[in-house]
Amino acid sequence: MPFTLHGLPVSQGIAIGHAHIVSHALLEVNHYHVADRHLLEELARFDDALATVRKDLEELKAVTSSGGQGHNEVTAFVELQIMLLADPMLADASRALISERHCNAEWALVQQMEQLVEQFEEIEDAYLRERKADVVQVVERLVKVLLGQPGRLPARRRDGLGTIVVAHDLSPADTIGFRDHNISGFVTDVGGPTSHTAIVARSLRIPAVVALHHVRHLVEEDELLIIDGTRGILIVGPTPEIVDEYRLRKTELELERSKLNRLKDNRATTLDGEDILLLANIEGPKDAVAVKAANADGVGLFRTEFLFMGRDELPDEDEQFEAYRSVLKSMGTRPVTIRTFDVGADKALNGVQARFEPNPALGLRAIRYSLAEPQMFMTQLRALLRASSYGRLKIMIPMLSHAHEIDQSLNLIDRAKGELRAERVKFDERLEVGGMVEVPAAALALGMFVRRLAFLSIGTNDLIQYTLAIDRSDEAVAHLYDPLHPAVLKLISGTIQVGARFSLPVSVCGEMAGDPAFTHLLLGMGLRQFSMHPSKILEVKQQVLRADLTELAPRVQRILKMDEPARLREAVERLGG
Ligand code: PEP
Ligand code: MG
Repeated sequence: MPFTLHGLPVSQGIAIGHAHIVSHALLEVNHYHVADRHLLEELARFDDALATVRKDLEELKAVTSSGGQGHNEVTAFVELQIMLLADPMLADASRALISERHCNAEWALVQQMEQLVEQFEEIEDAYLRERKADVVQVVERLVKVLLGQPGRLPARRRDGLGTIVVAHDLSPADTIGFRDHNISGFVTDVGGPTSHTAIVARSLRIPAVVALHHVRHLVEEDELLIIDGTRGILIVGPTPEIVDEYRLRKTELELERSKLNRLKDNRATTLDGEDILLLANIEGPKDAVAVKAANADGVGLFRTEFLFMGRDELPDEDEQFEAYRSVLKSMGTRPVTIRTFDVGADKALNGVQARFEPNPALGLRAIRYSLAEPQMFMTQLRALLRASSYGRLKIMIPMLSHAHEIDQSLNLIDRAKGELRAERVKFDERLEVGGMVEVPAAALALGMFVRRLAFLSIGTNDLIQYTLAIDRSDEAVAHLYDPLHPAVLKLISGTIQVGARFSLPVSVCGEMAGDPAFTHLLLGMGLRQFSMHPSKILEVKQQVLRADLTELAPRVQRILKMDEPARLREAVERLGG
């Protein structure tokens, strides 16, 4: 009998294939005594395993750092795991355990890992706490090597179907390796939509469902499986009729993709002739390839904090300048909006002393952090200004909630300009400075923004989080995170209206902008600039091409008056797109 399991959809698409169950190496570790005369051998066995895993990870790093979209983050995760390998708390402490307790290497590693995990669990900072998963993953890799099971994946199958990996958890490094092994999808017991593994799956376009709890115990090796990565379901042992139905759906999806590709060179113009700007969100210079492939109108959000993450020291002015200049040059005359650092909360910096914060999302984050570290901020501003003479740069300030934060930022920009003038360094004198509307207070008191800034960008991810008091990284309240909550819609449409009244360009750069289900709603509110992950541009363009603004505007006005969630949702669905 076929049955269905429900989890969290983290990477879209349909995969049909045979199960390959990945064992949980850590559960297979036994303890044994190592005699005195074998101690040196055991230590050498441990060091060899470290060297093998380091080599594997270095190879992966070489692959990811030459890759395209989304690979910056992946490289950062791999680098983090390489660092962990060398960490004395892991390597030296395990060696000491082997020598002192005469125990086998894998057992020593697991003991040490458990200690480290306990310490990580006590950390308040959610991002740092999450890093315990990296410790476990790196130890699991080492243990697999020590146990002589480096996790070989099955060869290609004769029936043409791929392999679906079923695991307790997977590291981003495991996931990258799937590319070469005809892996059509994966499912895991644990994980969240923003986990590193989920991000890698999306950038490699491998359908995946996570948080299926005991999936490994419910599926047998080689059993036929279907993943519906869009709805977050796994069908175990489907009948031939179900397989046929999903094959059809898969073909339709693929056809849809190839049709979408034909839109690449079309302008995003509505049926009634209005041009819409479709911009890309990026995390580093390497993403420029994906931006060009999608033929985006420019970059609407460069999340510069990703240049910082996963490393020990902050990039200096020259390194930042090179990164910004490279993006500006590759975009030519297209606009590039670079956001100043949004560090803090779930995006912590390595090498910077983590401070205890009771509520990191409400703490020293984004512009608050930058203003608290003026030297770091000035370095970034100087690098940005120097890069501005190489293209159409706009500077964007995140998480604003007070007028004085804007004033202080503009003052520092002026000071940086003064320094550069004195040094006779060129920069774009007309460079625009804008701000993000991510805090309800900002959306409700926009007067102070429009008087001081040249453009606005709505960060719906945070605007929803702060309006509904839902931690966006907490899986337990994820079901309450609702972009269609009437309060959220009022803040978004209010911001767009104020922008129009004061002739201030407004864009949306949160996830809502890249969700084709909301394109018509946002167009009807008056939005004319969308910024999203490059992989979403064509889907959103398709919705723009089907939209008639004169017809949408009055319908959306009626939706904005609704406060009954079910009716509102239905009305948005009826808008299409
Ligand atoms: C947002 O909050 O919507 C946004 C675009 O910023 P980030 O996701 O980087 O916080
Ligand atoms: Mg944000």
